[in-house]
Amino acid sequence: MSMPALRRDLLIWFEENARDLPWRRDPSPYHTWVSETMLQQTQVTTVVPYYNAFINRFPYIAVLADATLDDVLKTWEGLGYYRRARNLHKAAGIVVSEHGGELPDDEQALLALPGIGRYTAGAIRSIAFALPAPILDGNVKRVITRLDDIEENIDNGPVERKLWQRASELVDPKRPGVFNEAVMELGATICLPQKPLCLLCPVQKHCLAQDRGTQYERPVRNQRRKVPHYDVVAGIIWHAGDSERFMIAQRPAEGMLGGLWEFPGGKQEPGEHAVNALVRELEEELAIEVEVGEHLLDIDHAFTHFRITLHAYHVRHIGGEPQCLGVDDWRWVTLPELDGFAFARTDRRIIEALQGRSVGR
Ligand code: SF4
Repeated sequence: MSMPALRRDLLIWFEENARDLPWRRDPSPYHTWVSETMLQQTQVTTVVPYYNAFINRFPYIAVLADATLDDVLKTWEGLGYYRRARNLHKAAGIVVSEHGGELPDDEQALLALPGIGRYTAGAIRSIAFALPAPILDGNVKRVITRLDDIEENIDNGPVERKLWQRASELVDPKRPGVFNEAVMELGATICLPQKPLCLLCPVQKHCLAQDRGTQYERPVRNQRRKVPHYDVVAGIIWHAGDSERFMIAQRPAEGMLGGLWEFPGGKQEPGEHAVNALVRELEEELAIEVEVGEHLLDIDHAFTHFRITLHAYHVRHIGGEPQCLGVDDWRWVTLPELDGFAFARTDRRIIEALQGRSVGR
């Protein structure tokens, strides 16, 4: 494989075919950081409106650092993987206090910031600072594995290290950012996981797997494990003395979906009835007694490593002053007041049901 010819063919293709994306129109270290953080685990088409809203709301790192976490989570609401938002917010504070409000270009300084790993550091350094830093995400791994026809399992640590090494050799020293974006774009639009579009591929003549006819077998990866399923319960806890008000609680900051608001509840134990689970969970989390009433809806939802079915019930508060035992905060609210709080997608579905706008599943 001739490296200069491969780079040239890829860059010519990218110049003609790059998708018009908002972070490409107005590149800056902050814009690259936000977009690359959002793009981890999430498709481009989903990210675009969130990116626009986020940059509109927090146009500079200093504005993000000054915002409340609630405000950041509210802007992120619906995008999922909320740890990314919490890390962005925390890191923005550090960038302001330790780097004068500007992202550093030094790899170690970037890696010291919450939420910035080797991939994001490489993207910021190459795309925003034009430094010859490699990047390696799922798309880049797939492209390199096929270009080199790598037969080894890429989920093994030593093979991954080899891919990082290969990514650093490939990166174009003259236009590192554009080159890295081009490889990612190739993986996202042409060198697709199940059906690579080799006939349209600008680097077809440099691709060993295509030459050998092994592209459909690459990359070799670990077998996927069966995704576990859990039943989860949640209560719309109605106030005993005010029929307009019900309770919401804020999840602990460091846990899953940390900092988001929810209809309180938790996981059912094996063999436990949903009603009993709800009574137990509300006592453990909030020290309250409730009477479980009408079933509202069931919602199926998939997270990365597990699936849940959420069973939501109307419940009545019958005793106990709420306490923050398993939650960070709680409030009595009315339906219109919910717009001021950030919720995970499943809780938004409950809100829509309360507003009469949807049914479950
Ligand atoms: S020729 Fe096919 S397998 Fe090789 S990089 Fe291009 S799309 Fe991927």
